[in-house]
Amino acid sequence: MNTFSSDTRDDPRAGTRVPVTRNEREFIRLADALGEWPTLVARLLRGHGEVGVCSGCTMPGGRNTITAPCPVRYLALLAQTRLERVRWREAMLPAVGEAPPP
Ligand SMILES: [Zn+2]
Repeated sequence: MNTFSSDTRDDPRAGTRVPVTRNEREFIRLADALGEWPTLVARLLRGHGEVGVCSGCTMPGGRNTITAPCPVRYLALLAQTRLERVRWREAMLPAVGEAPPP
């Protein structure tokens, strides 16, 4: 099986790059799909805070609390990052039929 740079991620504990697991790959695919809806990504980021108890994930009056940043926030952040990367790449590529920059 070939390993491409996109099939690995940084592992801060090991200080090196490690292969992406199947679950991580599915999480990334979900983030890519979510990136198709930037308005939803922005709404998720507003509703799922950075610190404290996540009010977006915790039911009012509920006994279980979810500490922020929650998995939904991580997913929205990944979607936003990947969307910005795609937009940047598209902005840098010349349009079809357009002359390359001098
Ligand atoms: Zn949340």
